[in-house]
Formats: sequence, structure tokens, C-alpha cells
Amino acid sequence: MSVTCPECGAAVAVPAGFMVAACTCGARVRTDGDGTSAHAGLDPYEILGVSPDASTDEIRRAYRQRARETHPDHGGNPDEFQAVQMAWEVLRDGEPTRTRRRQTGSIGVPDVVGMNAVSAISRLREAGLLPVIAMTRVDATSPLIGFVVATTPSPGQQRPHNGAVQIVVALSDPAALRQRLIDSGRQAAKDLRHGFATTWRERQQPSADTAPTATAIGQRLGYSTLTAARGTVDALRLGAYAAVVAVIMAAAVVVGVIRPAAGLIVLLVGLTVVAFTWVRGRRRRRARRERGGLL
Ligand SMILES: [Zn+2]
Repeated sequence: MSVTCPECGAAVAVPAGFMVAACTCGARVRTDGDGTSAHAGLDPYEILGVSPDASTDEIRRAYRQRARETHPDHGGNPDEFQAVQMAWEVLRDGEPTRTRRRQTGSIGVPDVVGMNAVSAISRLREAGLLPVIAMTRVDATSPLIGFVVATTPSPGQQRPHNGAVQIVVALSDPAALRQRLIDSGRQAAKDLRHGFATTWRERQQPSADTAPTATAIGQRLGYSTLTAARGTVDALRLGAYAAVVAVIMAAAVVVGVIRPAAGLIVLLVGLTVVAFTWVRGRRRRRARRERGGLL
């Protein structure tokens, strides 16, 4: 397909399956794409080879078998193995959740074509979607390297039944950058599993009996805001501990002037109590945050 460059008017050839191409003048031109590029077959049910009505047990069995077949250690294809993992991430929730997803309908796919791959991944995550990464090889001098050149479905289309959106990233050396992208994709899948369920649950029964978990709030505010809030609270807490330690040291000095041995005891006992409280508090906070607590 050929598109006219808006900057210089030259005809730019857009390769099949691409929605964006670079003009020789440096401008980026794009087509709307038809959403049926070479990269179809994203449906997690199709990837695992189960019907949309399959039970959780059937899905688990299919996943185990497909994972064995595609495992790179047993000569399988790593990309296929990743797709199987992603499909499992999407479908592993229980039957009621899957049914609800089917009934609740679809999610619009945000436009990430032309975006840098890492930004595109976080953009999709924010929209409650599961990014699945595919790579396409381009010339080493291409200005498209590291950018999303197509998505399935196309931007603006609806993603029914599941949140998986495949992004096609242009790379000159897929092998070298592959691992980095897979890592961020995998982390996204992990983060999303909870957020995803929360999003659907909220849509089903708006803020009824669902306590606002940290994940839900994080989804709404963006994870960075939650991290910043936690960071502020942690800093205030650290300040309070520092003040207590200062008081203990001052007391130890005052007592130590009169009786050095007693001053030393005040110092040691005081610091031991502070350290003990700190360690115990940190363990509790960590457990609370893992359970979905805000701070
Ligand atoms: Zn141009």
C-alpha cells in the first residue's frame, strides 16, 4: 500500500501488516490498517485450543499440554510458548469471571501505533488491556526501530471477550531486544491479572461491595501515583523514627554525663527497641500491601 507523505508529498510504501512507515524526509506516515494484518489468531481460547465454554479444568489441562509442546527446552518455539502463557494469564480466572467478561462485552483499543514500545505497553495496561508483543524485523537504519507499527485489533476497534491486544514492534535485531520486551510484557500480565479482574468486577456492580483495593485505586490513579503516596508515607515514617533515635541519643548523653554505664544501657536498650519495632512494622506493612492495602 502507498500513502502520500503529509510533509513532502512523496509516495511512501507501507509494508503489508504495517500501519506506519517512515518517509525519506523523516516524517512518519500512517494508514488506518484493516485490523486483519498477518498477525491474527490472538484469541486466547484459540491459542489453547479450547472452546469458549470450556471449564476451568479443561482450560488448565489444555494449558499444561500446550505449554509442554511449546516449551523452548523441549524444542518448542519461544514466541508460541509466550503466547500460551499469555492466553493462560487471561483465562486462568474461574468460570464466573470468564462468563462475566463474555457478557460484559468489549473494550476499545487505544491508539498506540507509532508509540515507543515501552510507552505503548504501559498505555495498554492503563486501559486495562493485556499487551501481547510480536516483533517484525526492519532495516538497521529504520527510524521505526523500537516503535509499534501495528496492533491487532486496530486502534478504536473493540476487543471482545478478553483484554489481549497484540502490538507489533519494529526491530532490527529481534534477538537482542526480545528478552527485554518479553520481561516487560510478562510483568504487565502479572500486574494486570488483579487489575483486570477488578475492572470487570467494578463494571458489573459499580462500587457496591468491592472495597477499593490498592490495585483498583492504582488502576484509577496510575501506579506511579500510588507509589508516590507510599513513598511519602514511608519518608514521613522514616523521619519519625529518626526523631525517636535522636531523643534516645540525647537521653543517653544526659544520663551518661552522670553515670557512663547507665548512659550506655539507655542507648543500647533504646536502639534495640526501635530496631525491633521497625522490623516488625515493615513486615506488617508488606503483608498489608500484598493483601491490597493502600498504604
Ligand atoms: Zn516526506
